Amino acid sequence: ENFIIAIDGFSSCGKSTVAKAVAKKLQFVFIDSGAMYRAVTLYFLRHHVNLDDTEKINAALEHIHIDFVPHADKMCMLLNGEDVSEEIRQMHVSEKVSEVSAIKEVRQALVRQQQNLGKRRNIVMDGRDIGTTVFPDADLKIFMTASPDVRAERRLAELLAKGEEVSMEEIKQNLAHRDHIDSTREESPLRQAEDAIVLDNSDLTQEEQLEIVLNEYEK
Ligand code: C5P
Repeated sequence: ENFIIAIDGFSSCGKSTVAKAVAKKLQFVFIDSGAMYRAVTLYFLRHHVNLDDTEKINAALEHIHIDFVPHADKMCMLLNGEDVSEEIRQMHVSEKVSEVSAIKEVRQALVRQQQNLGKRRNIVMDGRDIGTTVFPDADLKIFMTASPDVRAERRLAELLAKGEEVSMEEIKQNLAHRDHIDSTREESPLRQAEDAIVLDNSDLTQEEQLEIVLNEYEK
C-alpha cells in the first residue's frame, strides 16, 4: 500500500517548505497542489477566460495539460509543455488564483488529477483541501498555521528575493483576501480535517518542523 501525507493550511504558512523536506527525507514524491491552481489561473489570464462563463471555462480546462517534471534539484511545473514555475509565483497570478480556485469546475478537474497523482506511489501533497476532499483517507494529515505577521514577512522575503517590487501592505492584503475566499467558498473550503495534527510553526525552525512530521510518520 502506498502512503499519503496531506499538508494543509492558509497561504504562506510554510507548507511547501516542510512538504519538500519531508518528501526528500522519505523519498516520497512532493506535489504542490497550489501550483496546479496557479497554472490554471495563468492560462485563464493569458486567454482572457471570463470567470462567469462556464462554457468557456470547461473548454479551457479541456485544453490545459499540467505536468510536474523533476529538474536539477526541484520540480518544474509545465503548462502545456511550457515551464511556468517562475511565472505562476508572480503577483498577477496570486491576485486572481483564489477566485479561479473557487470555481466548481476547476476544482473538480484538479481534484481528479491530484487523486490520480496519488495512485500507487508515496506522496506528500500540500494545499487547502488535501486532507478533507482530495485524500480524506490520507495516512497522515498535518494542518499548518503561523501568525499573520510571520506569514507576511516570509512571503515578502520570498518575493523580494525574486526581484518583485511589492510592499508589505500589498502582501498583507493579498493574504487576507485569499484566506477569506479560500475559507468561505462553497466548493471544498479550507478547513482543518478532524484527524489532522496542528503544527503552528511561528516559532519553529525548519529542522524542528521536519522532526515533528517525521515523528508523527513513525508513530
Ligand atoms: O499554495 P498556494 O498559496 O500556492 O496556492 C495558491 C492558491 O490556490 C490558494 O490561495 C488557494 O486559493 C488555491 N488552492 C486551493 N486548493 C488547494 C491548493 C491551492 O484552492 N488544494
